[in-house]
Amino acid sequence: MLQLIDVGKQSVDAYREIVGEEAVLELKKLAEPLRGLRLAHVNATPYGGGVSELLRSVVPLERDLGINADWRVISGDEKFFNVTKKFHNALQGMEGPLKKEDEETYFVYNIRNAQLFDTEYDVVIVHDPQPAAIRAFFKAFHPKSSTKWVWRCHIDTSQPNPAYWNFLKDFIDDYEAVVFTMPEFVPPDFKHQKMFFIPPAIDPLSPKNLPLPEDLAKKLLAWLGMYPEERFITQVSRFDPWKDPFGAIEVWRMVKKEFPDLHLALVGSMALDDPEGWEIYGRIMEVDNQEHHLHVFTNLTGVSNIEVNAFQKLASVVIQNSIREGFGLVVSEALWKETPVVAGKTGGIQMQLAEGGGFLVSSIEECAERVIYLLKNPEEAKIIGRQGKEGVRKNFLITRLLRDELRCLASVL
Ligand code: UDP
Repeated sequence: MLQLIDVGKQSVDAYREIVGEEAVLELKKLAEPLRGLRLAHVNATPYGGGVSELLRSVVPLERDLGINADWRVISGDEKFFNVTKKFHNALQGMEGPLKKEDEETYFVYNIRNAQLFDTEYDVVIVHDPQPAAIRAFFKAFHPKSSTKWVWRCHIDTSQPNPAYWNFLKDFIDDYEAVVFTMPEFVPPDFKHQKMFFIPPAIDPLSPKNLPLPEDLAKKLLAWLGMYPEERFITQVSRFDPWKDPFGAIEVWRMVKKEFPDLHLALVGSMALDDPEGWEIYGRIMEVDNQEHHLHVFTNLTGVSNIEVNAFQKLASVVIQNSIREGFGLVVSEALWKETPVVAGKTGGIQMQLAEGGGFLVSSIEECAERVIYLLKNPEEAKIIGRQGKEGVRKNFLITRLLRDELRCLASVL
C-alpha cells in the first residue's frame, strides 16, 4: 500500500467570511456531480515544500465537499531522491546528460510504487516528476483498472533540459489531463488534448496564514533567538540552488551598508525528497558562523507553520531571491500578512506581484536597491503590502484553487 497521509478536517463553510458566500456556493455546486468520487493525490513527500503545503489544505476540503479524497506518498530513499532532484533541476533548465543508471533507478522505484499502489480510485492526480511513471506501470499490476490520471506539474518546465524532458514526456503523453501553473511553463514541443492552467494558492485558515497578534509573533521569534525589536528581512524557502540563498545573503550585505543594524533571517525547510538541501544548509551554516546578525532557522530546530507566520508578519521586507520558481507560495503568504515582497522576476512570482505587493527584480543589486527603498519609506511600504493582500484575496486563496481543480476533475470523467 502507498503511504496514506492523515490530513485532519476542515469545512468550506469556514472560508465564507474571507471569500464570500458566492465563492463557497460555487464550490458546492461544482462538487455536487463529483460526490462519492474516489480521488487520490500522489506526491513524493508529506512535508517540506509547496506541494505538501497545498495537499494538506486541499484534501480535507475535497472531503468536506463529498469527494473521497486521499493523499498518498510514494516510497523512496536517498538514491531515488538524488535522481529525482536531478530531474527537478534539469526540468527547470539545468544542463547535463541523463545517465542510464539514473533512468534505471527512476524506473525501478516507479515500478515498485506502481505495485504498492493497490487501492482502486476513479481519478489519480500525480504531482511533479518523481512519481510520473507510475501510471505507465500501473496497468501491468491492475489490468482491469479504469482509473483516470492527471499529471500536475508544479515546476517551471518552460526550458527543460531536452534529455530529461524527452524521457519524461513519453509517460506524460498518456495522462488524461495535464496541469501546469501557467501557459508559459508548457515545454516548447509539448501538446496535449486536455491541458489546464491552475496556479497554486495559500490557505488563509492554516496556522501559517491565520492572523497572528503582533505581541504573540514577537514572543515566538524571541523564543527562537531572534530579536524582534530589531529590524529584519527574511527569505523563507527550501535550501535550493534555484532559490539562491547565497544571493539573499549578498542582498542583505549590500543593504547593511545603509542599515548596519539590519538582521537577516534565512528560514529553510528540509524536504524528504530534497537531499540537496542538506549540502546547501551546511554551506550556509559556514557563512552563518562568521556573520553577526545573520540567523538561520529550519524545521529541524523548531520552525513550523506558526513560526513561519511570525517571520513573514514581522519582517520589514520579505525577499525571495529566486532564479527559477514554479510558483513560490511564500510570496502570497507574505503578502497575506501585508508584508511587502521583493522577489526574482521569474515564473509564478510574476503573477503574484502583478497587482502590487512589492517589486520584481532581475539582479542582486536591484533587489538590494528595492529593499533599501522600502526600508527608507516605511509608510509607502505599508501601502504596498496592503495592496498585495488584496491581490492574494482575489486570485491566490485555496478556494480558487479548489474551484479550478473541481473543473479539471469533472473534465476527465
Ligand atoms: N516553508 C516552511 N518552512 C520553511 C521554509 C518553507 O514551512 O522553513 C514552506 C513555505 O512557507 C511554503 C512552502 O514551504 O509554504 C514552500 O513553497 P514554495 O511554493 O514557496 O516553494 P517550493 O518549496 O514548493 O519550491
